[in-house]
Amino acid sequence: MNRLSIIGLSLMIILLASPLSQGVAQDVRADRRYDAVTWMQASAEYHLLTKQIYRGATAQLLVALDDPHWSADEIQAVEGGFQKKLPAIILDVDETVLDNSAYNARNVRDQKYFTLEAWNAWCEERRALAIPGAVEFIHRAEALGVKVFFITDREDNVKQATIENLQKIGVQASEENVLTKNPQLDDKISRRAIVSQNHRVLLLVGDSMSDLCSGMGTREWEQRQKIASEKMELFGPRWVMLPNPVYGGWQRALPTDNNGLRVD
Ligand SMILES: [Mg+2]
Repeated sequence: MNRLSIIGLSLMIILLASPLSQGVAQDVRADRRYDAVTWMQASAEYHLLTKQIYRGATAQLLVALDDPHWSADEIQAVEGGFQKKLPAIILDVDETVLDNSAYNARNVRDQKYFTLEAWNAWCEERRALAIPGAVEFIHRAEALGVKVFFITDREDNVKQATIENLQKIGVQASEENVLTKNPQLDDKISRRAIVSQNHRVLLLVGDSMSDLCSGMGTREWEQRQKIASEKMELFGPRWVMLPNPVYGGWQRALPTDNNGLRVD
C-alpha cells in the first residue's frame, strides 16, 4: 500500500468514527417529532387504536342512520328540518383518512419544518397511505347508502391530487365530494353548511377539534379544554376523534409556564 492509499484509508476511518457521522442519527432521534412520527408509523398501538375508533364509528353509524332526528352538525341540529334529507357523513382528510407520516418523517430526517410549498409538493405526489380502518369504514357507509364527504384544509390547487390520492387508497372521491379550502370557503363551518343543505349529517370524523366544532382557533389551552368538556357528550355518538400527536391546533395553545410541561 503506497503512502497516499494509507492517508486515504486513515481519513476514511477517522470520518466513519467521527461524532459527525454518528451525530446524524442521534440528531434525528433527538428531534421532538421523532417519537410521535415513529409511533404513528410503526407501533401496533396506533394501528389498533385507529381501527378500534373506526369500528366504534361504524356501530354509531347504524344508530344514527336509524334515527331521523339525529344530526352530528351542531348548526343543523339547532336549525332542524333535516329529517327527510339524504344521510351523509363528513370526514377530514389528513391524519383522518390519509396518512401523511412519510412527509413528516422526511422533515424529521432532513431537519425541516412545515412549509406550504413543501406540503403542496407532497400532496402532488399522491403517495399518502390510508389511516388504518378508514377505508373499511367508508366502504361500509357507502354500502348503507350514506354519502361520504371530505372537508379538508388542503387548498384548491391540490384538489385534483387529493382526489387522486383518495382514489388510490380505494375511496370514491370526486370534484363533488371533496371540499377543499379557498378564500371564499376558508373555514370548515361554511363547507359543512354546503353539505347540510341537502344532507342529514350522521357523523363528523377528524383528528382536530376544528374538524368538529368552532372556537378551537384560540391560543388559550384552558379555553380549548373548556370547549372540549362542554362538548364531551357528542364524542363517540356523533363526533369521532382520531389521535394525532405530530401536529395540530393544540401546539399553538400550550401553557406558557415551564415550556408547557406539568411536573406535579
Ligand atoms: Mg386532519
